Amino acid sequence: MKVFLGGARGSFPVSGPDKMRYGGDTFSLLVEGRNGEQVLIDAGSGVRQLKGRLRAGGTVFFTHTHLDHLIGLPMLSKTWPRRLILPRGGLREVLARVFSPPVWPVKLPDAEFPMPAEPMEVGGLRVGWHAVAHPDGCVAYRVDEPATGASVVVATDVEWQMMTPRAQDAFALFARGADLLVFDSQYLPAEYAAHKGWGHSTWTDAVEAARRFGVQKLWLMHHAPGRKDAELDALAAEAAAAFKGAVFPTVETMTEILHE
Ligand SMILES: [Zn+2]
Ligand SMILES: [Zn+2]
Repeated sequence: MKVFLGGARGSFPVSGPDKMRYGGDTFSLLVEGRNGEQVLIDAGSGVRQLKGRLRAGGTVFFTHTHLDHLIGLPMLSKTWPRRLILPRGGLREVLARVFSPPVWPVKLPDAEFPMPAEPMEVGGLRVGWHAVAHPDGCVAYRVDEPATGASVVVATDVEWQMMTPRAQDAFALFARGADLLVFDSQYLPAEYAAHKGWGHSTWTDAVEAARRFGVQKLWLMHHAPGRKDAELDALAAEAAAAFKGAVFPTVETMTEILHE
């Protein structure tokens, strides 16, 4: 299994000389199985980094429909997916609202909007999902490759501290033992109180979740739009000291190979 992260920024895309190392594109992540099968999770602006690798006719799974996770979808025109999936449904209607004049001038190509039973098989990949705390609802995804034992859990937008102990336990059961956990780390612990209920976690929540889940490696992402490279460098060092497998992926290190 190969995992490619297209963008690690949260809320909206940013750019600037102080945001070069960790990048400014919003979330999109591609999981590729050993036979080349592909699962794309979300289509934020970071999908532009993945479209050279993406083949047409694939499947896109959406965690939720906030703009930072949809905004790159029109960029897939040449590699347009066959299936677009939002587990709770209603995706066709949301996309029709966002990508239609006068908000967006070009109509999206047709696609299927299935409501699959969980888990869903995509070639040799098995995709499961789990509801997490976030305004308007959101899911985390787990992609397993039974043939190699590789697994990744993707929790882009989740407010860990808003989940009850019971909900955290259920999430831990879902994510247990994954090789790689990709987790929301929008806030510093000191920023959280002012943003309670906004739907995001701190990097220390992400570390706590990684420990509870028993994962090997943790990618921290969905960085606050204003967070600068130098600040993220400092957080990366702190997080790595707190949890051995913690990494803030830079644009150079947004690829991971698991159990090939
Ligand atoms: Zn988001
Ligand atoms: Zn969101």
